Amino acid sequence: MTSLHGFKEISREYLNELNGEAVIYEHEKTGGQVLSVLNNDENKTFGISFRTPPENSTGLPHILEHSVLCGSKKYPVKEPFVELLKCSLQTFLNAMTYPDKTVYPVASPNEQDFRNLVGVYLDAVFFPNLTPNTLMQEGWHYVPEEDGSLSYKGVVFNEMKGAYSSPDSLLYEHTQHSLFPDNTYGLDSGGNPEVIPDLTFAEFMEFHSKYYHPSNAYAFFYGDDDPEHRLVMLDEYFNQFDKINPQSAIEDQTPFSKPVVVKEKYAASDKGSQKAMFTVNFGIGRSRDSIADLELSVLEQVLIGLPSSPLRKALTDSGLGEDLAGVGLEDELRQLYFSTGLKGINAEDAPKVEELIFSTLKDLAAKGVSREEIDAAVNTIEFHLRENNTGSYPRGLSVMITAMTSWLYDGHPLEYVRYETALAEIKDRIEKGEKIFEPIIEEVFLNNNYRSSVLMEPDTKVGPEREAREKTKLEKARAAMSDEEYASVVSKAEELQEEQEAPDSPEALDSIPRLKISDLDKEGKEIVCEEKGELLFHDIDTNSITYLDLAFDFAGLEDRLIPYLPIFGRALTQTGTKSTDFVTMTRRMAAKTGGISPTTIVSAKHGIDESCTRFVLRGKATAERTTDLLDIISELLLEASLDNKERIRQIVLESKARKEQSLVPSGHIMAATRMKARFNEAGFINELMNGISGLEFLRTLAERVEKDFESVVADLETIRSVILNQANLLSNVTLDGKTFGSIESPLSDMIAKLPAGSCNTAKRNILPFSKAEGLCIPAQVNYVAKGANVFEHGYEYSGAAHVVSRYLRTGYLWDKVRVQGGAYGSFSMFDRTSGSLSFVSYRDPNLTKTLDTYDGVAEYLNNFEVNSDELEKAVLGGIGEIDSYMLPDAKGYTSMVRHLCGEDAAFRQSIRDQVLGCSEQDFRDFASAAQSVADHGDIVVLGSKKAMQKSGLDLKLVDVL
Ligand SMILES: [Zn+2]
Repeated sequence: MTSLHGFKEISREYLNELNGEAVIYEHEKTGGQVLSVLNNDENKTFGISFRTPPENSTGLPHILEHSVLCGSKKYPVKEPFVELLKCSLQTFLNAMTYPDKTVYPVASPNEQDFRNLVGVYLDAVFFPNLTPNTLMQEGWHYVPEEDGSLSYKGVVFNEMKGAYSSPDSLLYEHTQHSLFPDNTYGLDSGGNPEVIPDLTFAEFMEFHSKYYHPSNAYAFFYGDDDPEHRLVMLDEYFNQFDKINPQSAIEDQTPFSKPVVVKEKYAASDKGSQKAMFTVNFGIGRSRDSIADLELSVLEQVLIGLPSSPLRKALTDSGLGEDLAGVGLEDELRQLYFSTGLKGINAEDAPKVEELIFSTLKDLAAKGVSREEIDAAVNTIEFHLRENNTGSYPRGLSVMITAMTSWLYDGHPLEYVRYETALAEIKDRIEKGEKIFEPIIEEVFLNNNYRSSVLMEPDTKVGPEREAREKTKLEKARAAMSDEEYASVVSKAEELQEEQEAPDSPEALDSIPRLKISDLDKEGKEIVCEEKGELLFHDIDTNSITYLDLAFDFAGLEDRLIPYLPIFGRALTQTGTKSTDFVTMTRRMAAKTGGISPTTIVSAKHGIDESCTRFVLRGKATAERTTDLLDIISELLLEASLDNKERIRQIVLESKARKEQSLVPSGHIMAATRMKARFNEAGFINELMNGISGLEFLRTLAERVEKDFESVVADLETIRSVILNQANLLSNVTLDGKTFGSIESPLSDMIAKLPAGSCNTAKRNILPFSKAEGLCIPAQVNYVAKGANVFEHGYEYSGAAHVVSRYLRTGYLWDKVRVQGGAYGSFSMFDRTSGSLSFVSYRDPNLTKTLDTYDGVAEYLNNFEVNSDELEKAVLGGIGEIDSYMLPDAKGYTSMVRHLCGEDAAFRQSIRDQVLGCSEQDFRDFASAAQSVADHGDIVVLGSKKAMQKSGLDLKLVDVL
């Protein structure tokens, strides 16, 4: 066998699923493994993964994931990762810690840029500059307070305090731990904030040398770059190591002989709006191959995939809870499990939920799963596999994650990537009438003692008790310290702070490879768009999938009806119609289309004082099924049963529960949405629909559904009659030109059936908000926002604003709020159409200190020495943001949004020109905008009430949870 740059080829095959060739290599010296995919995807992707099973819950794998990106041998800057964020054309740059692996993926459509990213990541994982200070900054350290006491700080420490404030993520952790008490899956690889401070530097270093080794590595390449050069880059690193046995195999959990019951509590406020959550969880000991796994995926879809699926429907129809709980089928770990249940229940109803799950499954096993249900499930899965729509993620990344689910456990890396054979086999068996799913239900659910139930109840004592424990732990640590030890803690903290504040040397910064401005395209690429009256057509190769968007102007809706829109959208697609009941309609959609979903577009328009407000129904189907798609959409628009009380009640409760659950994970968005409501009509409308106001509306609506359903129906019908008509409609089709010809006339026939209608504009009455608001939730962290409409204070827009705003996020704000402040992140959000500029933090232990940082932005920008290197980096980052990579459906949709907001090609080119020409003066101009935020800005804080009361700020407090 021949050797190629130190690698031997193990296998090579062409895969239709990848439109390309997949080659497996092994590194001869170290045994390092490589999966190299060669196809014509220009969004080139690389990832290197390590098996990193944790031995405790100190979050070691997670802290290490952060730490290796803090400087390495060849790239000795404080944070190469951030330097790349500043100046790369990357379409993906991140790192993720799983329960048993740590992955480092990057992607870029530019080959040189791609190689730069790969080079920096390889150096980072194999030769990081890990020091005690790295662990202190990213993990945890003591901070001496002015009164002589101690506190904890650290990026992961606070990130995980945020995660532990989210009942949803706690439920996920407890569920997983309940099934794996004896192996690595019973631990938290992310880190439990109460355990993180037990981590020592020695353990930290040992973990790295043991697991971050080529013999424990899984390298992945994908795309249209030079395949041989991939091996050259890898060998340069792998070659510096000798083979070891990393002993990283994941032990199996022995199945239980009898089911386990777990009861946990989570922190609640005394408002009393939070309820219990409950899951029933089944360990699955089935052998792992592509057919068995696909059977389980189809079964998952059959049971809970659709609102009409029997198990989901039984749970939501029961009225016992508000929304489904559990992840369904978890198939990314060595041992699979299935988890389902309900959120928003009364704790004493948990046994009823459990009974219902079992009686429904028994019923299904006895009566059989219906063929319609199976066809709907199989089509949904098949459509997803073939469409391979990874949204804003690179397709290569999704292939890598799929490959890892067999590869990491010593299976064949392509086991699940090749799906065609398994799919054909299952379809064939279904066609023959074989009973596939009933025996699995018996085996996995009904005759399985390897299972658990998890009940999580809200408790007002949990938060204060946790704080008290932390305080005691710190006091004990302080008391145990000698004077010298305390002095050393003080000096170490000071030393860390000095190191964080010291800038990187120009030579070190120069080591980070990057493109030059001259490598960039001067002319922006426009998305193809043909205007045919009230129809936009994008002639793009979509792999024979029709993407259709119907965008209805809702400017005619009065203020009080606007918060209904998200509910209206779901009601339109999930209540059935006058001629087809809800279950049949839901199955038909799943069997014939790739899905029909509602959304909204709300934005200020460019150049005029108007808002773009559209309710959009988005549908997709294979080209040959486009007429089915049109028939279904037509039936929904004209006949949806907006008076289906049972369904409307469920939709409202689910939406409310999801909004409440999103408060912690999306706290920065909630704070920013509330902030922007002050600055223009579009911001106000968005807050009504999607912000805290939207949540308050849903709570009232839930009561009205019970007490006065008729008025709710009347409102929904008013919305239908005001907006769903031809006069309000813009259609948007993304598809190749040849196929478009065959659907053009059925589409116009469908539109002709809608009422003619007329366009109206209702008068808006923007409500006032307090200058400074505190939105209280029971969380251990805060989301701190300050913002203003800077156009009102004299700032004139230039495309360069995006360069400076982005530069702030990866520079000043990153350093002050994250690195020094210990928050997980911070954003500068500038909206060019409305002129709103907001600074927002994420999972922040601080409050006033962060506001002071925001107030310092102007001074920083005024004193900032804009040397040519830094400027060039900022411009590269700005262009990277403008040229974001998009899949075909996203291109068509984005083009429509631009059209609706009045942003034409000339305007976009002028932005590009201004980005490319960004100068020192632009930084100074933006400083004045930042100064007006400091002088006149409003404040919105979402987070801990105690922190707000202690802050001394005059915040108007609102109890949100
Ligand atoms: Zn993290």
